[in-house]
Amino acid sequence: MSIRVGIIGTGLIGEAHGRKLTSTIGGSSVTAVADVQRGRAEEVAAVLGGAKVFESGLELIESDAVDAVLVTSVGETHAEFVLACIAAGKPVMCEKPLAPTVAECERIIEAEVAHGSRLVIVGFMRRYDPGYQQVKSALESGAIGEPLILHNVHRNPSVPESYTSSMTMTDSMIHEVDVSRWLLGEELTAVQVIPPKRTPNALPHLQDPQFAVFTTESGLLSTVEFFANAQYGYDVRCELVGSLGTSSLVNPVVAGAVTDGTSKERVSTDWRERFGPAYAAELQTWISGLERGETVGPSAWEGYAATCVVQVGVQAVSAGRRLSVDYMERPGLYE
Ligand code: NAP
Repeated sequence: MSIRVGIIGTGLIGEAHGRKLTSTIGGSSVTAVADVQRGRAEEVAAVLGGAKVFESGLELIESDAVDAVLVTSVGETHAEFVLACIAAGKPVMCEKPLAPTVAECERIIEAEVAHGSRLVIVGFMRRYDPGYQQVKSALESGAIGEPLILHNVHRNPSVPESYTSSMTMTDSMIHEVDVSRWLLGEELTAVQVIPPKRTPNALPHLQDPQFAVFTTESGLLSTVEFFANAQYGYDVRCELVGSLGTSSLVNPVVAGAVTDGTSKERVSTDWRERFGPAYAAELQTWISGLERGETVGPSAWEGYAATCVVQVGVQAVSAGRRLSVDYMERPGLYE
């Protein structure tokens, strides 16, 4: 049986996910789309083979033509749509963030717990990247001993003028927050942000680069350099230092060339290319799980925890000191 997916928000990632769901992903079709930009929804519906265009996300969720919902609208709208999916008893994959505020994430958790089984997954696709998975395997095999420090680097060629210093946490470092929790297997309990010297290429309103230090429950450190206007390319790095050795993520080489006695490797310049296979694996895992009647992927708790950390991270940008992160008690549904 094909899982009939409805997509709310047909912008950059909604269209990209939709293309995968109608081509490379087995077991799914896209039957419905909705976007406040109606023209954009119609264009994407045509690209996806004639999905029905709905006036609103809420109407789409109620439709009998939709088995599962993909929420790829702007972050501020996520909670309303995820809560409506839970009320309708429909599985939902929500792009990050689960919701921008801790209070909204708590409402989602309360609603899912009241429903009694998991329906929600959050789009933390790095967990499906072979490089990150190799780092996790190295740790789990015991080869590098006990984990001590995780070093992360996240560089973008450039960002638009609308990008703000807070978005370094809420939009970008949220990926490192999730990867740190997932690799180290502990909650992050404190954040400190240290502003390095600013690049001359940043817009005046933007502190760029930024450097954050996250601390886990047992005192492990996870450092993140985020550089929004690094110019040279899209570059994500990760090294886990253990008591016996280290494991580093290997970035995929997109193409190589040998000319004039010099060997050159082209690496990704764009996040869609770099993490394309991870997005596909994330979607396939979700769809295959639904075919078996299971919800497989990062849970609403993972989305909640990430929002708790980045919201404190935003305060830490201006506080200039280490701030603690607190969590609600973890419900049994997410054990
Ligand atoms: P985008 O290109 O701006 O697309 C979002 C679309 O949703 C826009 O067309 C927007 O219209 C529409 N929208 C806004 N409110 C809506 C509503 N109430 N109902 C239906 N549609 C609505 O943004 P994007 O880059 O695709 O990002 C979308 C989400 O995915 C964000 O949460 C982002 O953080 C996440 N994302 C995740 C990754 C990842 O690596 N996992 C990568 C990229 C994006 P307007 O333009 O009029 O607001």
